[in-house]
Amino acid sequence: MSHKSGRHFLQIPGPTNVPDRILRAMDGPTIDHRGPEFAELALDVLYDIKAIFKTEQPVLIFPASGTGAWEAALVNTLSHGDKVLMFETGQFATLWSNLARRFGLEVDMVPGDWRSGVKPQDVEDRLSADIKAVCVVHNETSTGVTSNIAAVRAAMDRTGHPALLMVDTISSLACMDYRHDEWGVDVTVSGSQKGLMLPPGLSFTAISMKALEATENSSFAKSYWHWDEMLKANEKGFFPYTPATNLLYGLQESIAMLNEEGLDTVFARHRRHGEATRRAVAAWGLEVLCKNPEEYSNSLTAVMMPDGKNADALRKVVLEKFDMSLGSGLGKVAGKVFRIGHLGDFNDLTLAGALSGVEMGLRLFGLAGAKGGVDAALVYLAERAGKK
Ligand SMILES: *Cc1c(COP(=O)(O)O)cnc(C)c1O
Repeated sequence: MSHKSGRHFLQIPGPTNVPDRILRAMDGPTIDHRGPEFAELALDVLYDIKAIFKTEQPVLIFPASGTGAWEAALVNTLSHGDKVLMFETGQFATLWSNLARRFGLEVDMVPGDWRSGVKPQDVEDRLSADIKAVCVVHNETSTGVTSNIAAVRAAMDRTGHPALLMVDTISSLACMDYRHDEWGVDVTVSGSQKGLMLPPGLSFTAISMKALEATENSSFAKSYWHWDEMLKANEKGFFPYTPATNLLYGLQESIAMLNEEGLDTVFARHRRHGEATRRAVAAWGLEVLCKNPEEYSNSLTAVMMPDGKNADALRKVVLEKFDMSLGSGLGKVAGKVFRIGHLGDFNDLTLAGALSGVEMGLRLFGLAGAKGGVDAALVYLAERAGKK
């Protein structure tokens, strides 16, 4: 392998670029996870992570990818044969529903066009009496479409239905505003490798009292994922098994960085980069996959290729010529879209570089008309510089 100078541009929507501060924080000795120094670290991060979810209720940290937290959410609160309401917003919602079916849950899947979010009216219409949980992906990473969680909650409240509300925030936490308590969410799952800027390996679960009560009636077998075991051990700053100690050093640093910048500034930054990217796409004469402007994702943008042009071939050009990784189209939109990740440790110039790589790639790919996108983004970024 030959040496490539400069940094690789990792512009997939997760894992995201891990900042040097976090890498350095993780570069320490792995300590005794039953000792006092560890307990201090764990109590610290278990408390401080709550502010990121905007919750005062417990947040659990499992050594796992986000998928583990999906599974834990279902097996702790539900039982075989229970019915859940899910929405086909894209590939991640589909994967979560597949997982649910494998456990013998009955999934009522509301079909979707992979270009729009959950419609609150659908929530109201489909909430039959036997539904035990409503599961929604906040930011559908395969499409760059968000769903309005407060509106989903309001729709559930209008029916007075007692179902649990479960939300996947794996690619929205610490990117876009999210309020576990205020929005009345019962289970929020997330992961380390996206907005939190950490390597993969930690999953997060914020739990409401109602979700905790539901665990008492859950008859699914579980051991590793048992919330109760985790909660009990966490009280004193420990885990029921070996935790991912060095990732927790990283998490402590990540939370410190988010607090230093301020969550509102973090969200404004993601908003600015989302908008700048969409302006570039429009100038290129291309279309974003997300149909409704109020549902645009600020974590990533999925861009549709013109008919007859394969998005993976473009991604290959960009990787080979400019050392940048773009996200591929997943599931139904494979080959039809490419995704630009603009989440995590990211600033205006990183975005300018990423968009430059895409624009040069489009040109080499024979889309000669795709010009002026970088310029449109730069004009907007300059206009917004230093503002929220
Ligand atoms: C990345 C992602 C997942 C999958 O998480 P893993 O950490 O790969 O298990 C699930 N949902 C969403 C919305 C994601 O972005």
